[in-house]
Amino acid sequence: MLISKQNRSYISPSFSADEGSGFILKVTEILFSSDKRVKIVVEMPDPDRFTTKEAPHIPRILFRLLPHLRRHRCDNDYGFSFRQECACTEIPHLFEHLIIELQNQVQKSGPLKGETHWDWHRDPKGRFHVWVEYDNELLVLGAIRVAERFINLLDAHALDNLNVQEEIANLKRLARIGYELYKVSDKLLAGNSQNELSVSEQFL
Ligand SMILES: [Zn+2]
Repeated sequence: MLISKQNRSYISPSFSADEGSGFILKVTEILFSSDKRVKIVVEMPDPDRFTTKEAPHIPRILFRLLPHLRRHRCDNDYGFSFRQECACTEIPHLFEHLIIELQNQVQKSGPLKGETHWDWHRDPKGRFHVWVEYDNELLVLGAIRVAERFINLLDAHALDNLNVQEEIANLKRLARIGYELYKVSDKLLAGNSQNELSVSEQFL
């Protein structure tokens, strides 16, 4: 985990404490960059409850549902394994690893990296900036939404509403569509006839 100051400027939607009721983490902005990284702005509505120390059940259940998370590499101040680090880490950092893991469950695209930053001298308390690498735009977009949902359902102990296998199956369908769209846009850029361009129905 890194702490850094960023010089980029951008506009984020305003966020009030009222909007935060009912969830521990909310994605408020998703920005794709040209270097196959996506930046996610995350708000933690309760700034006194933003680490796994205050919500230890979240990583505990998550590691049970997705055991491969234990094998994630994590650069942190004390050289902890990711699992050790999760005893007390910022929940958006766990969210970062979860997005990477969900992509990894769907599509083997080599190791993906991520970083989590915050600077509450500049930003409102509770705002985090998460960067994650991706290979498939639609897949990472789906993974971000699924990860957000997982974290909030786990926090609410709403496990009945959480079907990991079903969510991963849906992400696989999304990844195939993303791959097909990528091929279509490649053809468009190559100037091929529009008649040849169609998203195969078998993937929809
Ligand atoms: Zn990490």
